[in-house]
Amino acid sequence: AYVIAEPCIGAKDNSCVEVCPVDCIHPTPDEPDYDRVEMLYIDPEECIDCDACVEACPVDACFAEDQLPDEWSKYAEINANYYAGK
Ligand code: SF4
Repeated sequence: AYVIAEPCIGAKDNSCVEVCPVDCIHPTPDEPDYDRVEMLYIDPEECIDCDACVEACPVDACFAEDQLPDEWSKYAEINANYYAGK
């Protein structure tokens, strides 16, 4: 799965939300969580590894999990945790 990392914090640009073909990036601006979160998250169960979000993101926050920079490795779990129990 793909992972959103630290550059999204404070950016929350939503370009990825618009291009994701399976709508697996949340929360979207019309969801109640949106104003409470500091960044967006990819659902690892739904992502189909299409790479569209990487190109769309203006702050280079999206990565294939195996290309996630070491200093941001914790974000794989952070993305997954957003969906845990949902
Ligand atoms: Fe969505 Fe594709 Fe990015 Fe996965 S890689 S989050 S399916 S846009």
